[in-house]
Amino acid sequence: MILHTIAEVREQVKKWKKEGLTVGLVPTMGALHAGHRSLIEKSVEKCDKTVVSVFVNPIQFCPGEDLDKYPRTLNEDNELCEKVGADIIFAPSPKEMYGEGHILSNDFLTYVIPPYFYVNKLCGKSRVGHFDGVCTVVNKLFNIVQPDFAFFGQKDAQQLIIIRKMVKDLNIPVEIIPCPIVREESGLALSSRNKYLNNEQKGYALALRKILFNIKACYDKGIKDIEALKETAYPYLNEHHNLEYLEFLDADTLDEKKSADDNTRVFIAVKIGDVRLIDNIML
Ligand code: AMP
Repeated sequence: MILHTIAEVREQVKKWKKEGLTVGLVPTMGALHAGHRSLIEKSVEKCDKTVVSVFVNPIQFCPGEDLDKYPRTLNEDNELCEKVGADIIFAPSPKEMYGEGHILSNDFLTYVIPPYFYVNKLCGKSRVGHFDGVCTVVNKLFNIVQPDFAFFGQKDAQQLIIIRKMVKDLNIPVEIIPCPIVREESGLALSSRNKYLNNEQKGYALALRKILFNIKACYDKGIKDIEALKETAYPYLNEHHNLEYLEFLDADTLDEKKSADDNTRVFIAVKIGDVRLIDNIML
């Protein structure tokens, strides 16, 4: 069932809560694929009721990013959700979420701003304001749906860590459930943005997976020096790859690591043409 208004979702959730049912929330921007599907399946398994939100959140896109061309496939998304057993798709309009007017301006809208330490690195460095938009919308979704559990993919590991921090710092009564990265058979991490890649670029995109898996293999063989591990990446990169970052950070706190250890997550972002791809792996 697709619901478009906050009032309808609230009413439905209220009924469930009265019956003592648990509610899971899977926030997405739609164009659902097997990665999203795994989160929805986990929620359906764990919770009595599952809400999937589908909202291309304008305030998490930076100027010049792909807000207008981001794929919107609500009918297909609905089919997938029904097949997997989700109870509601919540698909609000930007107007429903933010009202009329100055939606992109924090002069007129209350934002939730995550801490600088967590934002001033990885994707936050190039996507200034992105995580403010993410935390603001996720906080709104938590207030609207009041879920007992919310499901987030490790594909966006920085986002997951920041959401966890927000939930802790603001005492939001929800349990965050992390879900592993789902990959294509080729190893490419699934992403709605993979739709932008042509066949040739898809080939170049495999470098991310190769770099990360090779770093993990080298680490398992005993290499702990981060510079040495970083150097193993360069043979996989060519003129079609614009490397934005390759970083070794603590998987819980995003602290810099002096040398690699079992709680290190390796994060990579590469631009291929206009398409920005991210991936990561735990050592
Ligand atoms: P998005 O629609 O890109 O905002 O993603 C919605 C949720 O799905 C986020 O929690 C993502 O981390 C998660 N997700 C996206 N792609 C994958 C994937 N390949 N594997 C696991 N989770 C994913």
